[in-house]
This record gives sequence, C-alpha cells and structure tokens, in this order.
Amino acid sequence: MDFCQSDEVQAMRVEARKFTEEKIVPFADKWDEEHHFPIEVVRQMGELGFFGCCIPEEFGGTNVGHLAQAVLCEEVGRGSASLRVAFNTQCWGTAFSILRHGTEQQKKKWIPDLISAKKIGCFAITEPNAGSDTLSMKTTAKPTDDGFVLNGNKIWISYASRADVALVYAYHDREAGSRGLSAFIVDLHSPGVSTSDLDKMGTRTSPTSEICFEEVKIPKDALLGKLGDGVKILFSSLNQTRLGCASGGVGLAQACLDAAVKYCDEREQFGQKIGQFQMNQEIVAVMAADIEAARLLTYRAAWQKDQGQVGNVLETSMAKYMAAEAAQRCAHGAMKILGSYGYSTEYPVARYYRDAVLYQIVEGTVNVQKMIIAQDQLGIRKANR
Ligand SMILES: Cc1cc2nc3c(=O)[nH]c(=O)nc-3n(C[C@H](O)[C@H](O)[C@H](O)COP(=O)(O)OP(=O)(O)OC[C@H]3O[C@@H](n4cnc5c(N)ncnc54)[C@H](O)[C@@H]3O)c2cc1C
Repeated sequence: MDFCQSDEVQAMRVEARKFTEEKIVPFADKWDEEHHFPIEVVRQMGELGFFGCCIPEEFGGTNVGHLAQAVLCEEVGRGSASLRVAFNTQCWGTAFSILRHGTEQQKKKWIPDLISAKKIGCFAITEPNAGSDTLSMKTTAKPTDDGFVLNGNKIWISYASRADVALVYAYHDREAGSRGLSAFIVDLHSPGVSTSDLDKMGTRTSPTSEICFEEVKIPKDALLGKLGDGVKILFSSLNQTRLGCASGGVGLAQACLDAAVKYCDEREQFGQKIGQFQMNQEIVAVMAADIEAARLLTYRAAWQKDQGQVGNVLETSMAKYMAAEAAQRCAHGAMKILGSYGYSTEYPVARYYRDAVLYQIVEGTVNVQKMIIAQDQLGIRKANR
C-alpha cells in the first residue's frame, strides 16, 4: 500500500525537501560544529505550516494529518536530526496534547503560537533520577488558593533554554501514586525558572537543557486536563512524539544511504568504482531494505492516527524501534563505505553517525519499545487499550 498517494502529501514533501536542501543542508555541519541553534529556521518552518498538519484550521493548522506531518519531519530529518526535534516541541509533544486535553481558552492561547513557532515549546518529563521510569519523577506542583507552586529539576529537555512554554509533568499529590500526577502548561519566563545547557556528542544544533523550578507560581488555568490526568496525558503524548522520532530516524537513515550511494559512484580503488565490490553492495542492499521497512511502519502508524487510532501504541513503538535501528545501522553502513572520509568532518556522515545514536535513547529507549511490543505479544499488557 502506498500511504502517500495524495497529491497534497506529495506536494508537501517536495516543498519540505526544497526547504531542507536550501535552508538546512548547506549550513548543518557548521551549526553542529558551533553548537548553534538556528531559531530563525524553526520560525520559518512554523510560518510555512510544517508543524500544524494535525491541528484544525480554527487553531491555525492545516488539518492535513499526521501522515503529512511525518513526511515533512522525515524530509527535515534528512538534513538535520537537531531540527526535526521541532516537530515534537512545536506540535506532537505540546500543541497536539493541548488540542486533545485542553480547554477552549488554552487551545486559543497556546496552539496557534506553538505551531507557527512564534513561541518555542518543549516538554519536560525526564529528571536526573527518572529516565525510563518516568513515574518516579520528583517534581511537585503544590496546590494553593490561586494555583500551584512548582518545585523540582528536569533534565535533558530539548529546546528548553530557548523555549517560551513547557508542558511540565509534576505530582500535585505524592501520596496518591500515579493518580497524583498532573500536566501543566508553564510559561518559562515565570520567576523561579532557570535553565542551563548540557554538552553532548550529537544533535548539537538542538539545545538540550536542565530546567530548575524553584517556588514557581503558576495559575490555576496552567493545569492541562483534570488533576490526576498526568499519566494519561504523558503516555498519549509520548505515543505521538515517538512518531516524530520514527520519521526523523527514517530521514537520517535515508541521508546515510544517499551519501553512501554517491560515494560508491565517485570513489575508485583497484581500478574500479567501489560500488562494484559485492561487499559494499551488500551494505547498500541492507541499508535500502532497512529504510523501506522502517518507513512503511512509520507511515502505517501515522496513517492509523489519521483514521482516528491516535492510541496505536503498538504500531508506533514498532515504527520507532525499527527507525532507530535503521538509523544506527545505516549510519554505520555509510561510515564503512566512506572509510576515512566518513570519519572526517569534511563529510556529513560523521555527524549522521553521532546523531543516529540519539534515536536509540529518546522518547523511550529501544529497550522500552521492545518491552512494550513483547509484553503485548505475550499477553502481559496490551499496548493498545
Ligand atoms: C539529546 C536528548 C534530548 C532529550 N529530550 C528530551 C525532552 O525533550 N523531554 C524529556 O522529557 N526528555 C528528553 N530526553 C530524555 C530521554 O527521553 C531519556 O534519556 C530516555 O527516556 C532514557 O532515560 P535515561 O537516559 O535516564 O536512561 P535509563 O532509564 O537510566 O536507562 C539506562 C539503560 O537501561 C535500560 N533500561 C531502563 N529500564 C529498563 C527496563 N525496564 N527494561 C530494560 N531496559 C531498561 C535503558 O534502555 C537504557 O539502556 C532527552 C535525552 C537526550 C539525550
């Protein structure tokens, strides 16, 4: 089945590819070297409607669907794994959660500015001692007469130091277990919020930060959904941001294949093009098949969401798992084909290699995806409930 038959999606892919080739690819290595976050590029993507595909027109979106947004994310991810993160910070992890769980007032206040990237967003789940075990987080939002007071530390939060708003998960009642977790839309310019950037081996164009909340007063209307809806919102949001990762992973894997194929046709050894050697052909064949498998799973998961199955945890986890593996294997394959030139910073393959690792970690590690899939298959815990 060709999930992307519609003329609309095809046209959007062409537009995103042109944008990526003109505005991202020529600068991506330099930005990476300088750890520079090109915020103006994120704003341009917002203005072009890249982040509003699964948002109704009344809130500034185009309502063309998750599949269209996955295709755009894949194309941007082909140029920069750091900039594809914006699809999650501006939509799947923020605006889309507000669309599903927010009041009319919250939707009007936040969604148009997030998807147009007038405001930069982020979502803050992870803490120093709460990674895969998200619910062991310690951040609290103590109820007061006029709202809540937020205290705690989040870590590894993408775009946080440049963000205006965060979707923050915190316990309003620690004694109530998982029913005590809630989600809050927090203005990051509030007194008591501070951020500091973390250094990392890859995706260096995407700032990743620690956020400290110290006696941060937030109003009652910062609460997303009802008190105690935190677990529901968190896991349904992860099930959308995983689609962003899957799409980005496919894009990065494709960039690796493109680089490998080009080099196979340029480089000669032993009097022939290196693409003539069967051992290199084997690498190219496995890369191409890996990408196609990951792409089909990703498009299926996106397409299901467009059919109303937004809670398709099993299929989204499969897509995220396969795309993470494809990205890593393709980066390794491209590195082998380019030899020392792959290892050099002259070619983008070294960046792809460093960036690919991240898809193994974010939005639930590869182990976590496998755990979800295995528990479903073994009947221990149904993934789609
Ligand atoms: C660059 C970057 C950007 C990020 N952006 C964000 C963001 O925007 N927002 C946000 O909230 N978080 C973000 N994260 C955090 C990311 O989602 C977590 O790092 C991830 O969920 C894993 O947590 P951890 O690193 O603490 O690993 P841990 O949970 O400590 O896991 C360590 C290892 O143990 C394995 N493991 C853990 N539990 C199990 C289990 N039950 N079964 C089998 N294996 C297990 C893991 O797979 C992993 O291999 C980001 C991280 C990075 C590096």
